[in-house]
This record gives sequence, structure tokens and C-alpha cells, in this order.
Amino acid sequence: MRKVQWVDFGPMQAELDKEIKDKFCELYDRKVYIQGQEYELFNKEFAEYCGVKYAVGVGNGLDALMLLLRAYEIGEGDEVIVPSNTFIATALAVTYVGAKPVFVEPILEEYNIDPDRIEEKINKNTKAIMAVHLYGQCCDIDKINAIAKKHNLVVIEDAAQAHGALYKGKKAGSLGDAAGFSFYPGKNLGALGDGGMVTTNNEEIAKKVAALCCYGSDYKYHHIYKGVNSRLDEIQCGFMRIKLHHLDKWNADRNKIAEKYLKGIKNPNIILPVVNKNNYHVWHIFAIRCKDRDRLEKYLNDNGIGTNKHYPTPMHLQGAYADLHIPQGALPYAEEISAHELSLPMFYGMSDEDVEYVIEKLNSFK
Ligand SMILES: *Cc1c(COP(=O)(O)O)cnc(C)c1O
Repeated sequence: MRKVQWVDFGPMQAELDKEIKDKFCELYDRKVYIQGQEYELFNKEFAEYCGVKYAVGVGNGLDALMLLLRAYEIGEGDEVIVPSNTFIATALAVTYVGAKPVFVEPILEEYNIDPDRIEEKINKNTKAIMAVHLYGQCCDIDKINAIAKKHNLVVIEDAAQAHGALYKGKKAGSLGDAAGFSFYPGKNLGALGDGGMVTTNNEEIAKKVAALCCYGSDYKYHHIYKGVNSRLDEIQCGFMRIKLHHLDKWNADRNKIAEKYLKGIKNPNIILPVVNKNNYHVWHIFAIRCKDRDRLEKYLNDNGIGTNKHYPTPMHLQGAYADLHIPQGALPYAEEISAHELSLPMFYGMSDEDVEYVIEKLNSFK
């Protein structure tokens, strides 16, 4: 039986093998481990890639979002709009600064926050909107920015799944007031470990995040904030500088796979993802929906095909957020997605034969 993994880093690693290993030797010999020249260069190159003035590497994606909220002085007593169907880190960032996440339902077909449902959740305590670009597709940022402007709110993009994604030709990370990225290994641009990045055109915010992630110091042993330690290691920056050169090609390959899925999957029981005409999708996740999801999952797994679910339990029904007292049924779209979404294999270098095999199995599912 053919085996198709949900994700396989093999093709990507094979291509990078020599460059990465050479880089390791170079940095090992240089003996600078934190905030050296690779850090400076990667920040600069990532900012250029996103089309913004500033980028600040941090320890991970959650910290990128949390430090941004702190930089905007959002905290105790404040509310922040969060999509009801994101990875829990978006909401945890809000919780960690002492603010309250207020969930807004998505547009079901596109899986991103529904801008038309944001205003009804805004009150005098609302300070920001977390604009998550879920699964690799940008949310409707023009509408979100307009709402934010009207109510004087900050727009923070959660671009953890959207490296290289475009909205009307502009890159994710350049669409709101500031953005947080994750370089978790499985993301479209992943480190060989944890990593994250903040992007913005706002110099003051960039400087604040740079201080906050380094014990709140603007220079050594001079502390202006009660900061944290959340830095992006020199060695990861070296690796990421290499990987960044390949990102557009990797995303284009994901698009080829997605096109084949979209054309080839013809099963009335399966709902395919929809790409908004404003967007270049980078397919971090290829999400389908099926009423009989659990049986479909088993069928695919039994046929050697790896799958995943994003995410099996919505945030408002997680024990971690029991304190919000949001009952089952309150956020039906988030619950619908958790109950019926299934993520298909999607990674750089997936072979045509494997894509065809997945399509064939999906079409023969009854
Ligand atoms: C991965 C992810 C994060 C968190 O990033 P980490 O680097 O794992 O902390 C935040 N938001 C979304 C939407 C993510 O997918």
C-alpha cells in the first residue's frame, strides 16, 4: 500500500542539506550564539520580504503576538477581538497580557473572521483586533482596517500560517498595524526549532518589542520595561536566511498541489476550501469539510494517507477557557469546523503520484 504522510520535510531538507550544514559549521566556528550579525541580517531580509520597515526576531509566534499587545499597552480590563476558530495561541497571547479575548465567528467558506460580525462585539473596552490569516489565506483586511479606524482599534495580524501570502498584491505582515509570525518547524517558513518574528512600519513599536523581548532593556543592563527573555537564536537566523530564499518556490509548489486537489476532488460529500479573489493563498493547511469526517479520516488513514484536524476542539470549549463561560452552541461555525474539518497532506515536494492517490481515495469514499 502506498504511504502518504501528512507532512514530510524530506524533499525540503534534501534540497537544503549542504547549505544548512555549511551554515552550521560557519556559525559554530564563529562562536556568537545570540543577537549577532545573522540576527541583524535576517531581521532586515525578512522585513524586506514582507515589505515593511522593521522586523524583530523573537522566541516564538505566541511571544510575537503577546509582545505586540504589550507594546501597544493592551492589558487588564481591555478586550481584544479574536476569531472563534483559530489556533489557541492567538487567544492565549491576549490572555497573557491580562486582556479578554472576545470571539467572532468566521465566514464559513473561507475560514477567516467575518468582518461583518466584528462591530457587534465592540464596546468601550475593545482595544484591538487579531486579524488571523488562517490556513495560509489572508483575512479581509480592508474591511477590518476600516472598522478599526472607525473605532480607534489596533490591528494585529496573526501571520503564523501565512508567510508569503498576498492580499491585493501586498504581503501578509504588512497589512495591519503590526504582525506576528511563527517559525515553528511545520509552518511554511519553519526554523529547526522554535522561532518567531514581529513586523511593522511603526518604529516605536519595533523598538519596544526589541526591548521587551530582551528583559525590557534598550541597552545592556538598562531596563525600561518589565520585559521577558524571548529571543531568536543566531543559529536559527542563519538557517532561516537560507530558507527564506526558497519560500516563494515552496509556496508555488503548494499552490500546484492545491490546484490538483481543487480540480480532482469530485465527491458531493466533501466541501472544498474557497480562495477569495483578493488573495494569493499559501496553503499552510488544505482544509476540507465532510459531515462524516471521522469515518473519512479513518478510511484515509487505513489507506496509508496521513491527516490532521485544525482544530478538533474550539477554544471556547477547551478547559483552558472554561472561565469565559461560553456554552456549547454559542459559536456554531467554530463548532462546525471543529466537528467536520479534515486537513489533507500538503508539503513541498509532494509527488504527483501521491497527490493523485489522495484524490482517488477521496473520490472513492462513499
Ligand atoms: C503556530 C501558530 C501560532 C503560535 O506560534 P508558535 O511559534 O507555535 O508559538 C499562533 N497563531 C497561529 C494561527 C498559529 O498557527
